[in-house]
Amino acid sequence: ATPMSVMVGVGRGAKEGVLIKNAEVLEVMEKVDTIVVDKTGTLTQGRPAVTAVETFGKWSEDDVLILAASVEAQSEHPLADAVVRRAKADDLPIHEATDFKSITGGGVQAHVDDHTILIGKTDLLQQHNVAEVDAGLNAAKNHQTEGATVVFVSIDDQLAAILAITDPIKESTPNALQTLHELGLKVIMLTGDAEPTAKAVATKLGIDEFHAGVSPEDKHAFVRKLKNDGKIVAMCGDGINDAPALAEANVGIAMGTGTGVAIESAGVTLVGGDLRGVAAAGNLSRKTMSNIR
Ligand code: ADP
Ligand code: MG
Repeated sequence: ATPMSVMVGVGRGAKEGVLIKNAEVLEVMEKVDTIVVDKTGTLTQGRPAVTAVETFGKWSEDDVLILAASVEAQSEHPLADAVVRRAKADDLPIHEATDFKSITGGGVQAHVDDHTILIGKTDLLQQHNVAEVDAGLNAAKNHQTEGATVVFVSIDDQLAAILAITDPIKESTPNALQTLHELGLKVIMLTGDAEPTAKAVATKLGIDEFHAGVSPEDKHAFVRKLKNDGKIVAMCGDGINDAPALAEANVGIAMGTGTGVAIESAGVTLVGGDLRGVAAAGNLSRKTMSNIR
């Protein structure tokens, strides 16, 4: 590519909120045939709110929220933020948490008030032999089929509550997906979230292929497999969990609203996290390359 056309492309992109870090993007983007998208923070706003708390056993809703928020106050995950905001809205205190541990794509763990708290997805609690997880599964279904993410909270290895957390779909998402489909591109959603939640969101958005319960390593492996099958892949994501896949894709596209690690791993950043920038990047690439040819 001649530097001049590339510079023009990069400049036009910036005006449209498409920040191109890696000039190769302008060469490759027009050839992309498969778009892989993360759910949380990419299709959805990434500003979720706790919409229901269901307790199990001896713990009150307030107790659960205090302990859970005290752990989540240490986490940078958007779900963590929702839990902390809910506790604050309910005028509940945040206590000191020690031995905090984050399991990327799984959940978080810490000690609070002499209790061991574990918060996250079902598999994680099952791996830690938490009792009564099954009781939460049925209750979770009702929220998940509505598109809510359900987070399980255990206190001292016993299920204490489930939290339903709703993250609205970005206003720009349906339009962005429609354009990508009209361009004949295949859109595949990958998420670490549970199957029923993923299905509800994918159905609502008309995404025909999705995979749920996908770990950060699996996201990476999935993108690699598509490439090995001859696909030219753009991966869109916002989280630490998306970083390996963003780096692996032919074009990595990070949401400007996402974490620094995702942005560093990508060749493109969409300011404001507007997915319509994906089609815009494709257009810029076509224009740039036709100027060169
Ligand atoms: P996504 O792929 O949708 O962006 P992640 O891979 O970040 O999601 O997370 C997958 C799942 O792990 C979440 O749906 C949640 O159940 C659990 N999880 C991750 N981080 C946290 C956290 N800080 N608190 C509670 N649950 C978490
Ligand atoms: Mg995400």
